[in-house]
Amino acid sequence: MPNKQTHYDVIVIGAGPAGFASAIRCAQHGLKTACIGNWCNKKNQSRLGGSHLNTGGVASMTLLESAKLYHQLNHGIAKHGIHVEAISIDLPLMIQRKDKIVDEIGHKMADLFVHHNIDYIQAKARLLNARQVEITTAEEPGAYSILDAEHIILATGSAPIKLPCAPIDNEFIIDSIAALNLDVVPKKLAIIGAGVVGLELASIWNRLGAETILLEAQENFLSLLDQQISGEAYRIYEHQGLDLRLGARVISAKKGNKKVTVDYQDQEGTHTLRVDKLIVACGRKPNTGELAAPEADLLLDENGYVYVDDNCRTNLPGVYAIGDLTLLGPMLAHKGIEEGVFVAEIIAGFHNPINYENLPSVIYTEPEIAWVGQTEQALRATGEAIKIGIYPLTATIRALAMGKSEGMVKIITSAANDKILGVHIIATQASELIAEAVLAMEFSASSEDLARTIHARPTLSEAVHDAALAFKEKALHLSVGK
Ligand code: NAD
Repeated sequence: MPNKQTHYDVIVIGAGPAGFASAIRCAQHGLKTACIGNWCNKKNQSRLGGSHLNTGGVASMTLLESAKLYHQLNHGIAKHGIHVEAISIDLPLMIQRKDKIVDEIGHKMADLFVHHNIDYIQAKARLLNARQVEITTAEEPGAYSILDAEHIILATGSAPIKLPCAPIDNEFIIDSIAALNLDVVPKKLAIIGAGVVGLELASIWNRLGAETILLEAQENFLSLLDQQISGEAYRIYEHQGLDLRLGARVISAKKGNKKVTVDYQDQEGTHTLRVDKLIVACGRKPNTGELAAPEADLLLDENGYVYVDDNCRTNLPGVYAIGDLTLLGPMLAHKGIEEGVFVAEIIAGFHNPINYENLPSVIYTEPEIAWVGQTEQALRATGEAIKIGIYPLTATIRALAMGKSEGMVKIITSAANDKILGVHIIATQASELIAEAVLAMEFSASSEDLARTIHARPTLSEAVHDAALAFKEKALHLSVGK
């Protein structure tokens, strides 16, 4: 334990992106704060950052960058007149680099806690009631101590869902965490689930040379996305060599003879695949199993999500839940961070509500997919009159110069007043481009506002500008190459 203090203004349980951001904001408001986390790195050293940093988004991002680089050296660079020979992969070194970056970020987060005078407690926490938390440490499993606080913030995040038909052994049938720590590139890889996690992992291993098959139970590919964008993504991914099998529900997976035999059903019947590794990436569930003692009476729904009101308040006075624990929005790190700050400010006496309507989402494949606001199909279903501006990356100078001209920017506005209702991008660096759209929507901008905003040339962001211009006649007058 870091010190003998047992009473705090705020105790945050969980040190992932949501819990971390919340603890820092509480401290910035002068609240005496403790944050309890139980994450350890591979060497069993205490680490902040939760699963997002250590085994999720950040870890995955570092490998995605390595895989993109390797793929570009093999496939994109010759066109630049650059010849590179004898390119090879040192996978252990690649994984080591990932671990080093993750460790560095963890250290920086710990430094920020020290700087803000936050007590970080490496322990397992359990909510006892609206004011008390029980903590136990790995060193003394039988012993426990009790901390109390005026306010408690629950931020324990989520974990991959397990499929009974595909039992994880983390050698042949692996979860999305082990999938970021393979020691050799599998020759033939299958992934259950073509959601965000499945596609990002496919993007890593396919680029590193694995024949990659995605088995997705739903008939519609990325059904939450704007259909035009998901259609374009499907076409691009298939062209990149991903084997996408839709309407394919996995019913059993068994290991034997150093292979995995996977049975799946589609409209045509039952099929069998033999692969070297099988990754299970079929969703996540909130970490609430051991979060609260039964007598705490914390209200959960039937799927384990913590019940909260619009202000992240649970049924227990003074107890809040944020991030992946609730159904207030999708499981996104940046949503959790906003909620962490929001709740800290409520506790400090402010009320700055979150606008969930302008929450961006990103899929970090190459090209990336990013979106904010409503889809064309959702708006058409409501009968709202809309206008659409589309600009292809093939007409964007910077994208052509980069040799990354696949994709488009699509802006949807209200036909009545030109207000932007949704922006959908499939493009290299779409994750960066979407920030402008989010800001525009936050300020209730119209497509004309975007069209009249001067964008530097040549940049990828011109595609956003030109999609806004595309609402007008002769909009493509600025285009090249198309
Ligand atoms: P998901 O729900 O997006 O996708 C899982 C897919 O698995 C679904 O499409 C489902 O139909 C399919 N599936 C389930 N059982 C199956 C079976 N037996 N056979 C075949 N397919 C099956 O879940 P995910 O991709 O694991 O992501 C979990 C959460 O984490 C999401 O909310 C996601 O947004 C979030 N996340 C976000 C990012 C990001 O922001 N880039 C990255 C990682 C995770």
